[in-house]
Amino acid sequence: MGSSDNLSAVLKCAKTIALEDTPVPQPLPGQVQMRMHSVGICGSDVHYWQHMRIGDTYVVPEPMILGHESSGTVTKLGEGVTNLSVGDKVAIEPGVPCAHCSFCKAGTYNLCPDVAFLATPPIHGSLRRFHCHAASFCYKLPDSVSLEEGALLEPLAVAVHACRRAHITAGDRVLVCGAGPIGLVNAMVASASGATDIVCTDIDDKRLEMAKQCGATHVINVRGLTNEGAVEQIRIMLGGHKADKAIECSGAQPSVKLAIHSVKASGTVVLVGMGPYDEIKIPVMTMSTREIDIRGIFRYANCYPAALELVKSGKVDIKKLVTHRFPIEKTVEAFETTLRGEGIKIVINC
Ligand SMILES: [Zn+2]
Ligand SMILES: [Zn+2]
Repeated sequence: MGSSDNLSAVLKCAKTIALEDTPVPQPLPGQVQMRMHSVGICGSDVHYWQHMRIGDTYVVPEPMILGHESSGTVTKLGEGVTNLSVGDKVAIEPGVPCAHCSFCKAGTYNLCPDVAFLATPPIHGSLRRFHCHAASFCYKLPDSVSLEEGALLEPLAVAVHACRRAHITAGDRVLVCGAGPIGLVNAMVASASGATDIVCTDIDDKRLEMAKQCGATHVINVRGLTNEGAVEQIRIMLGGHKADKAIECSGAQPSVKLAIHSVKASGTVVLVGMGPYDEIKIPVMTMSTREIDIRGIFRYANCYPAALELVKSGKVDIKKLVTHRFPIEKTVEAFETTLRGEGIKIVINC
């Protein structure tokens, strides 16, 4: 356990993270201060670390604290906070919206143009010992859910949102493209949502082995396969059927194409993965003539309570994704391990 200092993982410039003591923040009205416990490393953290930007939309102009998949223990209450007490263990939903715009009013607050999202410029992240956050976006964890699991509610919430956007329901046949952390949580949530056949694709056999432990009923290594070959193998795995829904988590052009070709007429493809290009080719004729719905997702809204229930009930065992743990002092080593593609989910203990 760290001392009373506020060691923080600060992204200084491309490829440079410094561990610095920063002032301990005090909670504003409506906020709580937390002693942080677990912070998962996300692909976006690694991308900012390497490039100081994600596309042209998110550019880090000055040093920024990383981290947004996090949990902690409440140490101080700001004025007016009534939903939490000092000592509560909480999971932190990283995006705090404005509450006033039309999207917030409609409940689609993930689309709020003024959302303040941790470790998204210009907002500092939570990879530090002490952090303050809006109390209404902190979720008290029951004793049966650990702080590490609390941090992983963040990627799990992404999957809850994706599966909701795909309308996954009992008896569905689902294709999940890409078996990285986000593909794996989608397989878990699809399974918990009642999907009975779940095919996971990837180009790495180790990841596909993991997918089998996360709800995948079938896995297929698509490396070297033609689109037609992969479509046919998936159809055979699904007992001669096409998938009802596909959740594309790789962002790779061939994978998006495979998803569109692998769902049945009237099926749905949800695009979760983001590749390096803003524009990719899609088979429009195949999509239009078969009335396939292609849907985007952006983060999540109203998904933390469901993610927490999935873990609490045991329907999702999120902790099995954690392959490495590092103390905050070894943040750089943790990021380098993630960049090398080792392991699945890497968690930093603050
Ligand atoms: Zn994330
Ligand atoms: Zn708003």
